[in-house]
Amino acid sequence: MTRLSVVVPCYNEEDVIERFDTRMREVLDGLPVGYEICYVDDGSSDGTLERLRAIAARHPHRTQYASFSRNFGKEAAMLAGLRKSSGDAVVIMDADLQHPPELLGRMLDLHHQGYDQVMARRTREGDKKLRSALSRLYYRAVNRWVDVELTDGVGDFRLLSRPAVDALLSLPEYNRFSKGLFSWIGFDTVTFDYQNAAREAGETKWKFGSLLNYGMDGLISFNNRPLRIALWLGLMLSGLAALYAVWITVTALFQGVTAPGYVTLVAIVVGLGGVQMVMLGLIGEYIGRIYYETKRRPHFLVKETHRSFGRAAAEQA
Ligand code: UDP
Ligand code: MG
Repeated sequence: MTRLSVVVPCYNEEDVIERFDTRMREVLDGLPVGYEICYVDDGSSDGTLERLRAIAARHPHRTQYASFSRNFGKEAAMLAGLRKSSGDAVVIMDADLQHPPELLGRMLDLHHQGYDQVMARRTREGDKKLRSALSRLYYRAVNRWVDVELTDGVGDFRLLSRPAVDALLSLPEYNRFSKGLFSWIGFDTVTFDYQNAAREAGETKWKFGSLLNYGMDGLISFNNRPLRIALWLGLMLSGLAALYAVWITVTALFQGVTAPGYVTLVAIVVGLGGVQMVMLGLIGEYIGRIYYETKRRPHFLVKETHRSFGRAAAEQA
């Protein structure tokens, strides 16, 4: 019998967490698996932790939870959950019931067919038009420029086999862009579609700004190709400047020096200034990342746990 761990990052989910737990256990009890649910409270400021305590009191043997000392972000919460999960297979799910628990049976079937990563891809129905158009554009750009393959609509909802989880845990980086890491580790992977569902209660933690930052992480976390592009752009602009200088010299020889050219000059100075700022910013991004990586701080700090969850997690951190 497969032992399944369900990892659930929760941040301010008091309105929905109990409903999630009930539905999850209904589904899990109907499946031929042994299971545990690992909740990670990502420093919620509402009653999420109390709800988790209540859940753990009700189901002491099939529940683990850890509560962070502050909000460390979903990536850290997923990492904490994965570290402590002990199942032969692990499923990562959102607490807001946007990931239908009913799909678990299908995921397990695919896992039993030999797949190490079973990814659920949501359709974009019901999304805002602009947002889905931007996403599509983004994914096209990422897949073009970045070494790892990312798929539109595929989030963190997936089943991972134990070897895949161990592979993920062997990646020590501080800046974790899971979508990329999942793709980077490889293994036999299969994707299936499911109907997008609305959040059951509470609200999304994503603001437009954080989405933009997340997008930038995706572009920069995986290679230094943007730096390579900067190099080529610089070379190209220098080449064009040289040609332009030749052209000016030649026309000056034949027509004498003419004063006009003010607009061109300003445009070139401003344009090049802009390009240089962008390139500096880009280099700064990489240096910033190196800075954070060299500190080797733990990804998260745990303040409270149920079962040995947190102690082990803190030791490993
Ligand atoms: N989440 C978290 N830490 C955060 C933000 C979100 O653990 O800092 C959790 C949240 O509780 C939920 C999941 O990550 O279980 C997805 O968050 P959300 O539903 O807000 O994202 P969306 O579905 O809108 O992409
Ligand atoms: Mg959600």
